[in-house]
Amino acid sequence: MQFGKAQEREFGTVRGSYSVVTGRENHDSQITLTDYEAELVLDHFGKANIHIGDVKSNEKQSSKPFRLYPEGRRIFLNIVFPKPNKPELRLYISARAGFKPNGEEIWFMFVKESELWIGAFPEELWRSKSSELKRDDHDDVYQESLDESDAIRVSKLKERDIYVRDRNIAVKRMELSSFTCEFDSTHELFISRYSKKPYLEAHHLIPIGLQNNFSMPLDTVHNVFCLCPYCHRAVHHAEKNVAREMLKDLSGKRSVLHDFSLSILDLFKLYAVEEID
Ligand SMILES: [Zn+2]
Ligand SMILES: [Zn+2]
Repeated sequence: MQFGKAQEREFGTVRGSYSVVTGRENHDSQITLTDYEAELVLDHFGKANIHIGDVKSNEKQSSKPFRLYPEGRRIFLNIVFPKPNKPELRLYISARAGFKPNGEEIWFMFVKESELWIGAFPEELWRSKSSELKRDDHDDVYQESLDESDAIRVSKLKERDIYVRDRNIAVKRMELSSFTCEFDSTHELFISRYSKKPYLEAHHLIPIGLQNNFSMPLDTVHNVFCLCPYCHRAVHHAEKNVAREMLKDLSGKRSVLHDFSLSILDLFKLYAVEEID
């Protein structure tokens, strides 16, 4: 699968791919490169430079240089088209060569400064590195600012917030949604002792940290969704299938994905809840 925007930023690249190492691939010490992985490898090394036949018949041409993530050590792994007349492209993984991911780990490649990097992580670590939501350390400050009444508004949001968010936009969204949870308007809300209004939190469906990727603002009443605390935590932390259902539901309420030319899969990737195979 092709890197999403969050992964491109995490690894400082514009091209990368990732997939699961199957138990079989681990056992056989070989990975068949498919789709975007194959494209990446062929573009990087040049299709004409990939040996056709088994490794032994041309060890020099089979051996390709990689940088091992994260330390950057140079390693050599064999890549060949094992069968003449077949497009199947094969990468050999090897502990001796320095790269032997475990079954069920996520392995990845990406191009950086004209070199091909390779690495692997357990799935949960990979997802946590891939999540755009994990970058936002200031969300609690933002949520607190929403729960101030106009009279006591002393928000330090602007100075502390690395991603500028306008409190008034979130409050406007809550008014437009009649102070109900946008995922399910029947969700029970308590009354805030500060604002005296039903307590809601604001969530940017397309994460605000991506603002630099777009010329249009992300902090708008279209992209902000007001959610009850339970739903807000769930969209950040719930199991992948639950989060995907919530994201599908929310993105169906307004045309925000379409406006930013993102697919639902792009959105899943930003939250690191996509199905990886
Ligand atoms: Zn949120
Ligand atoms: Zn809710």
